[in-house]
Parts: sequence; C-alpha cells; structure tokens
Amino acid sequence: MKLQGMRTYDHDEIVDVVVIGTGAGGAPLLARLAQRGLRVVALEAGPNLDPEDFTNDEVEAPRINWMSERLSGGETPTAFGPNNSGFGVGGGTLHWGAFTPRPDIRDMRLHTGSDADAGADSGADWPIEHADLTRYIVKVERTIGVSGPTPYPWDAERTYLEPPVDRNAPADLMALGCSRLGIRATDAPAAILNHDREQPHHGPRRGSQNLGSIHQGERFGTKATTANTYLPAAVAAGAEIRPDSMVHGIERDALGRVTAVVYRRGGEEFRQRCAALVLAGGGIETPRLLLNTGLANSSGMVGRNFLAHGAVQVWGRFDEQIRGYRGYPSALISEDFVRPADASFVGGYLLQSLGVMPLTFATSLVRGAGLWGAELVDALDAWRYSAGIGINGECLPRENNRLVLSDERDEWGVPRAVVTFTQGPNEKAIDDHAAGTMTSILEAAGARETRVLPRTAHTLGTCRMSTDPGEGVVDGDGRSHDIPNLWISDNSTFPSSLSANPGLAQMALALRTADRMLA
Ligand SMILES: Cc1cc2nc3c(=O)[nH]c(=O)nc-3n(C[C@H](O)[C@H](O)[C@H](O)COP(=O)(O)OP(=O)(O)OC[C@H]3O[C@@H](n4cnc5c(N)ncnc54)[C@H](O)[C@@H]3O)c2cc1C
Repeated sequence: MKLQGMRTYDHDEIVDVVVIGTGAGGAPLLARLAQRGLRVVALEAGPNLDPEDFTNDEVEAPRINWMSERLSGGETPTAFGPNNSGFGVGGGTLHWGAFTPRPDIRDMRLHTGSDADAGADSGADWPIEHADLTRYIVKVERTIGVSGPTPYPWDAERTYLEPPVDRNAPADLMALGCSRLGIRATDAPAAILNHDREQPHHGPRRGSQNLGSIHQGERFGTKATTANTYLPAAVAAGAEIRPDSMVHGIERDALGRVTAVVYRRGGEEFRQRCAALVLAGGGIETPRLLLNTGLANSSGMVGRNFLAHGAVQVWGRFDEQIRGYRGYPSALISEDFVRPADASFVGGYLLQSLGVMPLTFATSLVRGAGLWGAELVDALDAWRYSAGIGINGECLPRENNRLVLSDERDEWGVPRAVVTFTQGPNEKAIDDHAAGTMTSILEAAGARETRVLPRTAHTLGTCRMSTDPGEGVVDGDGRSHDIPNLWISDNSTFPSSLSANPGLAQMALALRTADRMLA
C-alpha cells in the first residue's frame, strides 16, 4: 500500500498509542483511533508490499505468511509455515480466504448453553454480548465490502448490500449434494467485491475476477484486506505505519505502566515512547512477546488454552473435470450443523465448499493422508477432477494446550514459540460427524471416491478475555487485567473458537476495543 507522504512521529515523542501488528486486529483499531485524532504508530514485523507484488505462484507466495520457525507438539500438532498466520502490512488478511460468516449467538454462550453433564468439556462463554459484537460486524461488512445472500437462511434479520459472488464448480457440486440430502446450503458471505468500488483513501477496487488464487495475495483489490481498507484510512487520518519493525521489548515505569516499546528494523534497535500499547500480533506472537517480557501474566494464563478450529476436509473425485482452482474457492456455505440434532458433542461446525491450488492440494495430501511417492503422484492426478468441502469446527479451551518459550532463538534473538496441541474427545467427535456429513454430500453429488484429510486451522485463545482476572489475560474490552494501559486486539483473546471463521469477528472486536479505549 502507499505509505509515501504519511505523517511521521519522532521516537522520543510520547505518541498516544503504539499498535503492534497491522492485520485483522490491529488495522481497524488503528484507523478508528487515528480518525478520532489520536497520534498512533503501527509497528509491523513484515514488509510493505505493493499489490502488484502479489503473484498467484504458490512457490513465491509464502512470503506473505509468518515463515519464521515455530515449534509444534502434542498429539495433533498444529501445522505452521505457509498458510498459517500473517506477515506484512495487512497481516493475515493478505492471505485469508475472505469467507465471512458471522458468529452464532449460541457459540458465544457455549458453556451456559451446554449440557451440564459435559463438565469440564462444556466450553467457555464470551464476556461480551452477541448483539454488541453484531453491531460492529455490520460496520465492518460495510467498510470492507462483504457480499452475500439476502435473505440469509439461518438469520432472518440479516441483509447484505452486495449480492453473492459467482459459484465455482465445487460450490455447484456441494449445492447439488446438499439439495439431494435435504441440507440447506447457500452462497457464502465473502469479503469479495461483486462490482468495482472506489474505496475511500485507497482508490479503485475491481469487482470479482473469479480468481482461485486469492490465498496467494490478490492484486486487483477484489478481496478486502486491511491494506486496501482500514490501513489507508488510518494513514489518511494521520497514523504512521512502520514496516519491517519487529517488536521484542516493552518498557514500563515504576508503577508498572507501559512507557515504550523496543523494536528491530534493518539490524538496528529503536525505542518508541507511547502512552498506551495495543498488542495485535496474533495468537502466537502476542503471547510469545508477553512471555518473553514477563508481562500481564499474574493469572498464569498467557499462552494457555490454545485453540485451533477443526478444519477437516473431504475431497471427492468426479468423472468429469471440475477445475476447482478457478473461481472464488469457498462460494457455498451451510450452517445446518452449527448444532446438529444428533450431536453427541458441545458446539458444532459450519461447512464451506473448497476449490484448491495444486501445491496446497499436494501438501494437504502429504500432511492429511500421509501420501508419498507414486501414491501421491496418483492422487495428484485427481486434482482437476476433485471438489472439496471443509469445516470450521468448535474447539474447546484446555489449559494444557499451550504455548511456551523454547531455548532456541529466532532471527530477531527472541525465544521461539513451542505450541502443544492435542484435540480432545469433543473435537474428535465433531471431526467424525463432519467427515460423515461431507462424504455423504459428495457421494450424493456423484463423487466416484472420497478422501478424508484431517487438519486444524487458525491460532486462537492464548491470551483469552475473561470477566474473572484469574481466568484470563484481558477483560471483555481487551484491556489487560494487570496493566491498565496495555490492550490486546487479536485472535489470542478468543475464549472459545466459535464455529464461524475468525477474521470478521476479529475486525469487529478491534473496532469495539478502540471505542472502549476512547471512552
Ligand atoms: C490460510 C488462511 C486462510 C484464512 N482464511 C480466512 C477466511 O476465509 N475467513 C476468516 O474469517 N478468517 C480466515 N483466516 C484467519 C484470519 O486470517 C485471522 O483470523 C486473522 O488474520 C487474525 O488476525 P490477527 O490480528 O490476530 O493476526 P494477523 O492478521 O495474523 O496479524 C498479525 C500481524 O502482526 C505482525 N506481528 C506479529 N508479531 C509482531 C511483532 N512482535 N512486532 C511487529 N509485528 C508483529 C505480523 O507480522 C502480522 O502482520 C485465515 C487464516 C489462514 C492462515
């Protein structure tokens, strides 16, 4: 994005707020604070890319992901590396799929709404109201341009300003299978423009190009990122964004309040003074920074309760060519399984149709099905004939699913994160139910054979919000229980994962936290 001519601040100036990270959690908050006249600086570890730098080449694209090594353990270790979390001005929204379901009210009251017999495995409630979050979600949808169907089958109140984007072949096949089985499915809400649009402070964004390569970065502005929406608005309102700036230290005064952050840029070390600090580095980097600095952890909850959405996929092989690499990859949704009638588990999942690029398909086959050699090559032959369906499934918090620091240091001299994650019986039951559902849909649509690929997605929960200071790291507004001028605005604050994908809710939470800071 264009940063030339933006306002700049001296390191010795005590700016009102420093924000660490420019993704879904950092950017909306930065814009809101700047628009209200605050002097704000965003520090972003990754580079600032021009949209023309984005390529649909999967070999080059990983540079928009956090590629610095993270160590992974547990019985169902989270896959890090490409396609994991964001790096660069725009954060995770550079690579996100822009699939934007809204959180379901039942998911935000998971514990209260669960069967008491489920005991410890009954999930967690969010300390904020669904209606409050929804008000902010509507604002985000209008700002970034979310398209979707009106009426929406699972929410009579909801309207979308833009009609949904075109379905691709995997969406058509999922729709066919669902209709044959009596499952409701509809066009997915997506932060993908249907028509050309002039985005304030950014410029023209093009209507849908039917690109299947949006996870690799998208150069036409069809997909909303924070780099083509909130960040230009922030800069226009006087925010400074410093790319290639990795924060590794936080300084405090005698009363324990944050006074400055320390960061590395181009091999040099800098210190930016500030009156308040917002951590928006995401579900891994925020707890890593807090553990490394020893801050905001009187509860001992920093790094605990790591959540990863259930994201099992089923791929069906059809007789005719599907060419699922074309068109918006996740054009169909079903929310019929957010609370399946026959469920033996807490929570549920939503379904999304899947198209896929070749390298991503190959790595999913290696990782999910353990294929290698001739078997892998055979399976890859099916790529053009394959349509997929995936889930976003609830994950319950467990203290021992956690992030700690390793003895090994990264390229910035910070101890690497070690994340231990084991899916519990609830997650396994959701996966099994979902694999059965998706297999039936693909078979009903005419798939000759199907393959289940177990996986998880997203990095949430490691600095969760809580009403009780002993149970979490921040309160429902995002403010640290321990340090009054320290706030968190990223996926680490999620108390439970929700069955909705996290990006839209995160942007809404960011606006809400900004308003609480301004109050
Ligand atoms: C492959 C993929 C597809 C996805 N698709 C969807 C989707 O379709 N729909 C959806 O809702 N969600 C999706 N998500 C999830 C979505 O991208 C995240 O929920 C969202 O981006 C998280 O926002 P965040 O602010 O927590 O972190 P991020 O957006 O990852 O932003 C964190 C930023 O902070 C920076 N940073 C971190 N540490 C430091 C530091 N110490 N100093 C300076 N900067 C730092 C990082 O470089 C990064 O830019 C997807 C995620 C992945 C991996």
